[in-house]
Amino acid sequence: MIPVKAAAFMFLFFLVIAIIASITPCSAAKYAEITLEPTFLSDGRLKVKVKLRVNGNIFEDSMILSETKFCPREYGYAVFTLRHVLEKYYSKLYKHTIKIAVNVPKDYIVISPIFYRYDLDISYSNEYTKYEVEVDYSDFSKFVFYEAYIVGLAEVISIYDGELFKVAFTNDVPKSFVENIIDAYSKGIKMLINYLGHSPLQPRVVIISGPNHHKLYPEGHAGTFAGSTVYLKLFSSEAYGLEWYVKNLYHEMAHGWFTWPIIYGDFVVKEGGAEYVSWIITRILYPDLFRKYDINNIKYRVKNKEDYATAAIKYMALNCSLVHVSEKYGKSFNIFDYIRYIIDKYHYSGKEINWDDFIGSNLREFLAEHVSSSEASKLQSAIAYGFLNLDIKYYGTWKYFDQYQLIKRIDEFLMEGAYETVTVTITETATVTTTVTDTVTVTRTYTTTTTETVTKIQERIEKEIHPITYVVSISAIIALTISIIMLKENKLD
Ligand SMILES: [Zn+2]
Repeated sequence: MIPVKAAAFMFLFFLVIAIIASITPCSAAKYAEITLEPTFLSDGRLKVKVKLRVNGNIFEDSMILSETKFCPREYGYAVFTLRHVLEKYYSKLYKHTIKIAVNVPKDYIVISPIFYRYDLDISYSNEYTKYEVEVDYSDFSKFVFYEAYIVGLAEVISIYDGELFKVAFTNDVPKSFVENIIDAYSKGIKMLINYLGHSPLQPRVVIISGPNHHKLYPEGHAGTFAGSTVYLKLFSSEAYGLEWYVKNLYHEMAHGWFTWPIIYGDFVVKEGGAEYVSWIITRILYPDLFRKYDINNIKYRVKNKEDYATAAIKYMALNCSLVHVSEKYGKSFNIFDYIRYIIDKYHYSGKEINWDDFIGSNLREFLAEHVSSSEASKLQSAIAYGFLNLDIKYYGTWKYFDQYQLIKRIDEFLMEGAYETVTVTITETATVTTTVTDTVTVTRTYTTTTTETVTKIQERIEKEIHPITYVVSISAIIALTISIIMLKENKLD
């Protein structure tokens, strides 16, 4: 016989087990399955059959891509995202773990950056190849839903299988060009990660199309799908050299960070960031190509006040200011530390950052991590004021082109780590003087009246114009002087 106490205990024990068992099915992750079957129709259009299994229901649908607004498609070669084929079912997937399967006939090639981020299962049957990955809802809703699948017939496209990335290219793209892009990617990705840290959307797939493919894109089109896939379409003209492609490859690769929801900003924040980073990386990795690109393209763009170039100059100027501040306080930070700070702070929230916030409250918080908060506040408003100065003063009275040359020179010194030799001092006499390593002296005249003493002028300068406010403009003057010297020595075009 079982004693009463033991029986009561066993009853309780089984009751607890029963309760746990009844809870478990509810607390387990909910699964959903998406199966995609892309095929080309005989008239050349891409059809994607979609099967969705979720919450005990099955939905079947199909989408013909050329009937949507989505454009990169043609016979034998297309690009699409889940967003284009699954938008109306999106809400049903809320908080599910999602298995995504892509099923293609044997003579098809399919690649996607998501295949290289998650565990990929590939299975083969007589006629089909099936690619499967499983992603959690957070990754699905923030990244995977917007990422590219490239589908092609083996006779139209080929794949280069790199360790960290893949290149899909149409068979008319010269092999030597593909090799150059592989080389540029391999060098560039290391530098991007080094400067900006890892990003969930860092590019893993590069697509290169010959000029006769994807007719709805113009020749020379460069773009990105969600940051993780870079798209390049070649020019038929040989007038565009490797410098054009490498620089644009780096711009699009930088969108692996300057994209929703990593750094999601207004035009200056997002495009200026990607453009600035592409200049820096091209300049460091391919100095000769950068020089060519600069002479043939950037100069023209700057002269024409093109938005991307202007926005990149703002990043350059911000870097000048940050390095100057960092030096002044015996610290060591630059624009890339600030960008990483922003990425950490927003933590993939997808919240939009405009340029005013970028050089406003965010900058103040960043500086407060390095100097006292009252100093940070002063420095931030001085830098923001410097930008007003940059916009109004130089847009009006300086040639835009000069402005770029100036800031570029100083930025080069900073990025090359030579900034210890560039010192800016303002002597508060009736004249404001800036000096660079004793070899260059530039004078700014500070207007005064005869009744004012030097001390009073000093007070005015301190009070009205924080010295840091001058950083952007002073950097420009220093750089101008240096570039004039270099011009004389024929070192600068
Ligand atoms: Zn861009």
